[in-house]
Amino acid sequence: MSSHILVVEDEADLADALAFALEREGFRGTVARDGRSAIDVISQTPPPDLVLLDLMLPDISGTEVCRQLRANPTTRHVPVIMVTARAEEIDRVVGFEVGADDYVVKPYSTRELVLRVRAVLRRRESSAPIDVTALRFGVLTVDKDAHKVWVEDAEVALTALEQRLLHTLLERRGRVQTRETLLSDVWGITADITTRTVDTHVKRLREKLGAAGSYVETVRGAGYRFRAQPEVVG
Ligand code: CA
Repeated sequence: MSSHILVVEDEADLADALAFALEREGFRGTVARDGRSAIDVISQTPPPDLVLLDLMLPDISGTEVCRQLRANPTTRHVPVIMVTARAEEIDRVVGFEVGADDYVVKPYSTRELVLRVRAVLRRRESSAPIDVTALRFGVLTVDKDAHKVWVEDAEVALTALEQRLLHTLLERRGRVQTRETLLSDVWGITADITTRTVDTHVKRLREKLGAAGSYVETVRGAGYRFRAQPEVVG
């Protein structure tokens, strides 16, 4: 079955052109013209496979839509690509901070956008269930299949991107991961994203992990490393 991509865009010609382009690429493309109707569509069962979310909407902003999606357990894991006319780096960070999986700046080429859609969907598939058992590491428990993370028995709400970052570091624990490696393996594509983005997200992930945050170590001049053992020996 073809993936359902929801295009959230108030400019009718842009939205229709994009939905058409997605259909031509074998996706099912639907359109929502404002934030509230987007949330309604995304809250349906099953939710869309991916949301292309314009930042500037007539009712509530794209970042607010994203925030609401991430706050709701049933829509938390729906991938979001933020689309905006504002190119400033700070906006990119804000987009990621509210849980967007990727970020595209207008004017974009349809081809680029479709590539990014495919990249996000592919990342989603490659993180599909492999091992059913939850992994315990010190005070941290990670159930990759259920997309759940606990620290000292309290569940921690992570964005899809933060989960991928955590899984990637955890699976390679004891080994240093450079920012470039993380960008390539967690974000999937490297265009338009700086290594500083990695730092921002590691910082945020650490904060959310609380008592388990120190498991993610900074290796100066190299990158990041998930500790090999929960406790520091010696
Ligand atoms: Ca708009």
